[in-house]
Amino acid sequence: MGMGELIVLTGPSGVGKGTLLRSLLQRHPELYLSVSITTRAPRPGEIDGKNYYFVNRSTFERMVTNGDLLEWAEFAGNLYGTPRQAVEDQVRQGNRVILEIELQGARQIRKTFPDALQIFILPPSLLELEYRIRSRAQDSEDAITRRLQRARAEIDAASEFDIQIVNDDFAKALDRIETTLFATAAC
Ligand code: 5GP
Repeated sequence: MGMGELIVLTGPSGVGKGTLLRSLLQRHPELYLSVSITTRAPRPGEIDGKNYYFVNRSTFERMVTNGDLLEWAEFAGNLYGTPRQAVEDQVRQGNRVILEIELQGARQIRKTFPDALQIFILPPSLLELEYRIRSRAQDSEDAITRRLQRARAEIDAASEFDIQIVNDDFAKALDRIETTLFATAAC
């Protein structure tokens, strides 16, 4: 079996990456989504081990020290990281692994896995992004402000990525992700 491939999906908070990913995985169950660890508290409905592994700071810091994370970053006051072992195992087995991560993590992966395909999802506008984050109604005002500040910085870095996809129309954005993944597939 040949080596698999890493696919990085990045885009500002609220851009709809999660919804796009869920549909993508339903249509292509052969894709493997890496489950990250985070120190953020679970949102209503989030399940430990499915959406994230929810851990405390000391557990997270121990994993960093032990080299258990492929990449990690601080985002809006919480830590997020990609567990190394599961991803390396999947890639070794020839699977295509998706990392849904923010900009700092994507930059770390670009250094360690220069062949990873990097996709950036853009909102139609910043105003629309703010509307989406607010209508999710799951974050405090302070968290919303931090997420919007971070969104501006991330959007400014979109050109660093191999592909940019605007999520203005869900079906079209999904179609573009699929075309990108399956047109560039080596196998
Ligand atoms: P949220 O709190 O909205 O679930 O995620 C906040 C941000 O953290 C999102 O941009 C998401 O892509 C990013 N994120 C989730 N998991 C990871 C990870 O393992 N590493 C990094 N660097 N970012 C992550």
